[in-house]
Amino acid sequence: MTDALILKDVRKIYGDREAVKGINFSVKEGEIFGLIGPNGAGKTTTLRMICTLLQVTDGSITVCGHDVMKEADEVRKIISYLPEDSGAYKDLTGRQYIRFMAAFFADGEKFQQMVDKGIEMSNLGDRIDSKVSTYSKGMMRRLLIARAMMPEPRLAIMDEITSGLDVMNAYEIREIVRGIAKEGVTVLISSHNMFEVESLCNRVAMINHGDIVECGTPAELKEKYNANNLEEVFV
Ligand code: ATP
Repeated sequence: MTDALILKDVRKIYGDREAVKGINFSVKEGEIFGLIGPNGAGKTTTLRMICTLLQVTDGSITVCGHDVMKEADEVRKIISYLPEDSGAYKDLTGRQYIRFMAAFFADGEKFQQMVDKGIEMSNLGDRIDSKVSTYSKGMMRRLLIARAMMPEPRLAIMDEITSGLDVMNAYEIREIVRGIAKEGVTVLISSHNMFEVESLCNRVAMINHGDIVECGTPAELKEKYNANNLEEVFV
């Protein structure tokens, strides 16, 4: 399996604060990879550097063979990023929002295919024609994931994808993420939720104070620490 994402000695300095301290990890094609860590550990900063939204201070990041600094336009074509605090235009219906977003990427037959895929993936049933302002958090998250997947990215990056959701909605979102990976898309998520990363991710990296302190499959990490679950490994 080849690597969809490679980070080598990546640093990020904000003013006089070193938020990410020369980290290394790679994500294989088709893998669901979890970046876990406490508040302020450097997860969002790392995701935003991968997405070309933040300048890397030092080191290199390669997405499907493209260097994020030298080939940012190429990277943007094959990546999608769903920030934790993202939202959709509340005065549009779900269908209108999907059509509006699809129009950025395609026209003609391809546009219609993209819209159909977005509607199917959002799984909103007849609420697709209700205004986004009336959606629950779970419905909103499904709509946003569908939008993120419409341009068919090779690497989907999702920040705190289930934060603020109840158990059922969080379960449903995890099922959607599994489906995305089954289609061959590489998925990188950030999370505080150990249960979530253990059930969802093929491999995880723990970041703390800007350093990767552990990386491996949930099974490897549990064995190393003789733990029953990932919470026991990291807490
Ligand atoms: P959370 O889970 O709370 O979102 P995180 O792991 O995503 O946390 P980051 O948001 O990447 O952490 O922040 C890492 C560190 O960098 C923190 O100390 C934060 O205060 C700092 N930081 C983040 N953005 C900036 C910025 N624009 N300017 C200065 N410092 C920043």
